[in-house]
Amino acid sequence: MTKNKWIDVTAPLVNGMVVWTNDIKVQIERRVSMDRGDLVNNSTISMGAHTGTHMDAPLHFIAKGKSIDQVPFDAIIGPTRVIEIKDKVSIKADDLKPYNIKRGERILFKTRNSPASWQNKNFAEDFVFITKGAAQLLAYTKVALVGVDYLSVGSPVDPEKGMKDVHEILLGAEIWLIEGLNLTDVKPGNYNLICLPLKLMNAEGSPVRAVLQRIP
Ligand SMILES: [Zn+2]
Repeated sequence: MTKNKWIDVTAPLVNGMVVWTNDIKVQIERRVSMDRGDLVNNSTISMGAHTGTHMDAPLHFIAKGKSIDQVPFDAIIGPTRVIEIKDKVSIKADDLKPYNIKRGERILFKTRNSPASWQNKNFAEDFVFITKGAAQLLAYTKVALVGVDYLSVGSPVDPEKGMKDVHEILLGAEIWLIEGLNLTDVKPGNYNLICLPLKLMNAEGSPVRAVLQRIP
């Protein structure tokens, strides 16, 4: 049993957790509370759709793109490859070539972002990101899903390197994105993935719960 246990790769949603630079802070509040003499416990939540471990739908950067409620289950459930990229700055096209990535694959990138960036309560601008060249290669290959271990596939530092470009290339090819994975406890290799976003109608993103199970 232990060999095939499910590994939770979801960042915990808690008040005070790191969010994108201009995003609203997470607020989870016990609105009705048994500690205060109420009959039940009942919480309210307030947060951005791109908080913690979440998915981007094409609609995030493509005006008429698909929304998160339209994600095909085949993109987010099934065999998945975790590839470790040792480069401390970015994921480049040359880094991907040895892996012979194929059409329709689900690919998660583990970098130094796991765990370093998640331990930091402040937003880490210098996270490892996907370069434009690597995004083009993934789009050309037509993978089904790409996952990264910090809050964005593209770097916010240099617009040339491309928040906008990298999102547009990947989402324009209708590649579904998971951002904000925590792959600290995951070795490179083959896994089964289950990652389910909320059914937020016509929304461009959603928080997810994502779990992996090693394929022997
Ligand atoms: Zn996002």
